[in-house]
Amino acid sequence: MQGTRLSQEYFYELALLKSPLDGLTYKSQEAVKVGALVKVNLGNRKTSNPAVVIKEVSKPSFKCLEIQEVTPYYYDAKMLGIAKFIASYYVCSLGEALSLYTPFDEAIQRVETSSFHSNIVLSKEQEEAYEFLKKQQQALLFANTGSGKTEIYIKAIETHLNQNQQAILLMPEISLTPQMQKRLEKVFGESIAIWHSKITKKKKEVIIQGLLSGKIQLIAGARSALFLPFSHLGLIIVDEEHDDSYKSDQKPRLNVKDLSIYMAKQHKIQLILGSATPSISSFHKIPYIRVAKSFFQTSKTITFYDSQTVLSIDIRNKIKRTLEEKKQVIIFLPTRANFKYQVCSSCGKSVECPYCSVSMSLHKNALALKCHYCGYAQQIPQLCPSCKTGIIQNFRIGTAQVEEELKTLFPTKNIVRFDRDSITTNTKLKEVLNDFNNEKIDILVGTQMLSKGHDYHNVTLAVVLGIDSVLNMNSYKSREKALSLLIQIAGRSGRKGFGEVIVQTKNKEFFEHYLVHSDYEDFLKDELPFREDLYPPFYKMAKIVFAHTNGIKAQEEMNKYVNILKDLEKIEMVGFGESGVFKIANKYRYEILLRSNNIKKLIQVLHSIHSPMVTIDMDTIK
Ligand SMILES: [Zn+2]
Ligand SMILES: [Zn+2]
Repeated sequence: MQGTRLSQEYFYELALLKSPLDGLTYKSQEAVKVGALVKVNLGNRKTSNPAVVIKEVSKPSFKCLEIQEVTPYYYDAKMLGIAKFIASYYVCSLGEALSLYTPFDEAIQRVETSSFHSNIVLSKEQEEAYEFLKKQQQALLFANTGSGKTEIYIKAIETHLNQNQQAILLMPEISLTPQMQKRLEKVFGESIAIWHSKITKKKKEVIIQGLLSGKIQLIAGARSALFLPFSHLGLIIVDEEHDDSYKSDQKPRLNVKDLSIYMAKQHKIQLILGSATPSISSFHKIPYIRVAKSFFQTSKTITFYDSQTVLSIDIRNKIKRTLEEKKQVIIFLPTRANFKYQVCSSCGKSVECPYCSVSMSLHKNALALKCHYCGYAQQIPQLCPSCKTGIIQNFRIGTAQVEEELKTLFPTKNIVRFDRDSITTNTKLKEVLNDFNNEKIDILVGTQMLSKGHDYHNVTLAVVLGIDSVLNMNSYKSREKALSLLIQIAGRSGRKGFGEVIVQTKNKEFFEHYLVHSDYEDFLKDELPFREDLYPPFYKMAKIVFAHTNGIKAQEEMNKYVNILKDLEKIEMVGFGESGVFKIANKYRYEILLRSNNIKKLIQVLHSIHSPMVTIDMDTIK
């Protein structure tokens, strides 16, 4: 094509995929569409790099390289628009934001799709909820476990698919169980595909082709499903919307739930956020409908035990009796790692940071307490500041430790751990669940992983340990997290003939109040005033992390920015210092925490930080 005639030259600004560099100018002999995926060389290097055409520009004064190849792949205007938002809000380059997406393929044309007729009949309550969600466009489905949330989802999906639109059902990866897949396939047949990080590259290609050709209309998937090439997206459902796994832990550190809300608004897509325990932010911002059929209609009893040890005498006896009756036991723990926390021996409260109103965490030597927000540190007081009678104690909790203790207590029983350390593959998962259901295992000790979508037939006792470690953790979300976790576990445990749920806690009053006497909606209303002057959803919080293999260099870089950022208007520096986890992947980490209710100003400040060591975490969830 080149050189046969005196051709016009075109100039384009490109975003280099996966690169922090922005706005590179290249030339081309032919016109290229905005959004096209092209290949370019970088400087003298001859390796070809993928880049996206952002816009046509006028001929620059400097010499520029030529685009090597124009591919049939492209990013549409909606993708480019959302990527620009991501780059701005989550502070990354446009190339990094676009790298999240799978592009369209010019070669594949979408055809009209078939229609569905599910046999689902909604109850009056479900029907009301369905109508509310439809009318509101963006709404929260606040539905207790067992109230038939999934049927409402299916009905909404069906409606959109029958209008020749596509739908996304986002779920935490852990919830994408074979049972859920079967349930969706029953209604949507080959039109549904499951998408998550563990499916093979080949399978992913098949799904993308299916989506582009119209064969696949519904994607049920984890985070990255939001970035597939949807041309007719009409519905986004974010299930378990309170789940922290929607927040990415890699750059750009975006929150896919928040991004769904933004996308839905921008492109007039129906949005449903669903949860039995919605986040305070969503509850505060989004209109909601309550479907409040209680899970206690199905579960038998819930008992609270206070104890000094992890496995109290009462709990041991209960386990012993259950095993003697040839029944199985499930034991939940909030954490798999050996986690240390502080708690008053008498009232169950913890020592709070005077500046942040959150529990402080135990410092390395476990004699001091430290606040990870503001850096304030103090000695562990002799007496509990809340009740003035108890002693502040250190507790250690984790699945490995509990497994060990149980093995000593019940040496003839088969006790198996069920967490991300021990269940590393899908095969292993199925194997353990099979063994458990075939009663080859007596006790399963696990994290939240235990509670997701699996059926246990012979279990009559569920024990929840260490919930106080969540309640007393160094986070403004600790109460929200502890209560929602307990409700999620209790809700699921009630499903299949569980006899009893035992909760080991020194904070019976708190849990019993919201679990038995009132409910999560009351909790959310009670909790909002505490957040008002300090925390989201009223204030934005951003964490700036400096990491380097040389700890002194990282610290110096942080100090440099502490000086720059400390006196800014409308931005409060909450604290700075060593990160909670000081060393990750051989790098020492220091951080600065900023707070503001002026989003514009905060984003502007974050974009002014140019350091090779920096990672910006907008809307940090820690
Ligand atoms: Zn106390
Ligand atoms: Zn503090």
